[in-house]
Amino acid sequence: AKNISSMDICLYNSSMTESIEYNVALEQKIRRALEDDKLYFVLQPQYDTKTKRLRGFETLARLNDENGNPISPAMFIPIAEKTGLITSIDNWIIRNTMIFFKKVLNKTDKDLLLSVNISVLHLLNKGFIDEIKLMLQETEFPPNQLEIEITESVFISSISKAIEILNELKNMGIRIALDDFGTGYSSLSYLTKLPIDILKIDKSFIDELLVSDSGRNYVAAIISIGHIMNFSVLSEGVEIQDQLDILANLGSDYIQGYVWGKPMNTSDVLKLIGITEEL
Ligand code: C2E
Ligand code: CA
Ligand code: CA
Ligand code: CA
Repeated sequence: AKNISSMDICLYNSSMTESIEYNVALEQKIRRALEDDKLYFVLQPQYDTKTKRLRGFETLARLNDENGNPISPAMFIPIAEKTGLITSIDNWIIRNTMIFFKKVLNKTDKDLLLSVNISVLHLLNKGFIDEIKLMLQETEFPPNQLEIEITESVFISSISKAIEILNELKNMGIRIALDDFGTGYSSLSYLTKLPIDILKIDKSFIDELLVSDSGRNYVAAIISIGHIMNFSVLSEGVEIQDQLDILANLGSDYIQGYVWGKPMNTSDVLKLIGITEEL
């Protein structure tokens, strides 16, 4: 299962980055959209697998082109990373979701988490910790209800620096999620060195659950590793009940996926939580 899924990702990336003209056009599109304030966010719910209790939400960036059509993050995030635009995108998304979610937390007794994606490049930026501190202050957001999602690629580029930054975030009370687990260059030795709270199993593995025994065994193994290391485990991209049933049996603590909730706009978030007043 592992080889097949990493191959898929390579094929996808190479076809997307084939044409220089295409990329330049897309970069221009992205810059224009950013100038025109066409960036916004949606939130996808995460649930406890056994009880279906709402754990919190992951915030996902969205960008519309001049015709109002969404540009997929799978396209604009990699370009934004190459051009350095990612830092301003991440910061805009984090600040604005924190502002929104702080208001939500003021209206509910529920202990909900907000998960945000941080690009490796951004995480390793000098000044990243100060930016986060400032945003927490400005928004009065409780650090222990903020979770930062990072992918494994961070450890390829600079493991010791990454560990240092993650430890600082941890000391501020922020939670750390290891995103897309299994798709990168996973090494058990670094897992033990990282202040991680939760492993997120990539959708490509969840897709294999019902396809083959080996696919299912692979997910079982990841869940075991996570638990042995004292992490929680969340399965991403769960689309159907049969996958959910297997994941409940295998002991995946949390799930995120279309089966229980698609990424949604802020008014649907309020409905889901049961907040009827205006914020
Ligand atoms: P990700 O962090 O792995 O996010 C999960 C992706 O899976 C999201 O795609 C989500 O919409 C999608 N998804 C969730 N459940 C299901 C499901 O059941 N079925 C299917 N088919 N898809 C599901 P999205 O929103 O297109 O984002 C793609 C990637 O772009 C994200 O992957 C993340 O790596 C990146 N991204 C999105 N927003 C941001 C951001 O604000 N900052 C950074 N740095 N990256 C972001
Ligand atoms: Ca993520
Ligand atoms: Ca992911
Ligand atoms: Ca991903």
